[in-house]
Amino acid sequence: MTDQYGRAIDYMRISVTDRCNLRCQYCMPDGVTLTPHSEILTYEELLRVAAQAVALGVTKFKVTGGEPLVRKGCVDFVGRLKALPGVEQVTMTTNGLLLSKQLEALVAVGLDAVNISLDTVDNEKYCRLTGYHGQALPQLTALLERCVAHGMRTKVNVVLLEENRDELPALAAIAQRLPVDVRFIELMPIGYGASAAGFSPDWALETLQGRWPDLAPVSERRGNGPAHYYASASLLGRIGLIDAVSHTFCVACNRVRLTSTGLLKPCLCYETSTDLKAILRGGGSDAALREALRQAIFAKPRAHCFARREDITEQKGMSQIGG
Ligand code: SAM
Ligand code: SF4
Repeated sequence: MTDQYGRAIDYMRISVTDRCNLRCQYCMPDGVTLTPHSEILTYEELLRVAAQAVALGVTKFKVTGGEPLVRKGCVDFVGRLKALPGVEQVTMTTNGLLLSKQLEALVAVGLDAVNISLDTVDNEKYCRLTGYHGQALPQLTALLERCVAHGMRTKVNVVLLEENRDELPALAAIAQRLPVDVRFIELMPIGYGASAAGFSPDWALETLQGRWPDLAPVSERRGNGPAHYYASASLLGRIGLIDAVSHTFCVACNRVRLTSTGLLKPCLCYETSTDLKAILRGGGSDAALREALRQAIFAKPRAHCFARREDITEQKGMSQIGG
């Protein structure tokens, strides 16, 4: 369906949990106040919402969190979501640490693509940034190779942080070794992101063009997101830039978010949401659920307000929203 500004909304991000096995500094450095399990939508409830979203024209879903793979039964959920009539694509955003053991199962249930978050190629820095203890980098490097070997469309998400400013060519070089897109994401002033230090995607692009002078924009669409892609003859994958804050891409926004507690959020910036859990658990019919979704999607705000921080009303962190 289209919203009040005529944008076609066909993409829903579903957060299956607000919990995570990492403590990224800009996301949940001290963890989150754990939401009781009873407040988290069951997979049945998530699927009921998804089915009604499909009835309104949503065809693509991203499973996210928190870390989606810390929730038991996530693989089965992905399979059931993919099997819903009308669903064209199910993808996942993950930190990858629990993916090694579940990759084949996810391939088998039809996961279409995976985004793996990786903000550094330096293991020591990784541990500092994420609170992880151990050798994550060799594990994640091997994982990327396995994803490619399975034919899984794979992207690496890098948030642009002062801490990785010196590593952009090294991170982008993942796309030189493997046919994997590496996407650089501007830090958003949501939750702890508001007090973390990032830098502009324009600077990142200039730096990368210094390393790969033929890096040039390509117009092809490579997913459901707002990334602009660049190609170089030396790279197997593309370089993506997501300038979420400095350039407003809201005019082409196609997404809504469902939090793990059942809030339907039409825009990241604003706390405004529709409590679908109340309908699900209050005996509401599928028609009532669909109508609530329809109204929430229709009322999606015109644009985010990252540039005017005083207007940001969202108090929840990215892990609770499903970034
Ligand atoms: N745990 C999974 C992961 O890290 O991929 C999925 C959830 S995480 C919230 C989704 C994505 O949001 C990650 O790529 C993460 O780096 C990004 N993210 C979190 N906080 C952010 C912020 N303030 N600005 C930009 N991206 C952020
Ligand atoms: Fe966890 Fe992802 Fe947030 Fe890092 S960004 S703390 S991996 S939810």
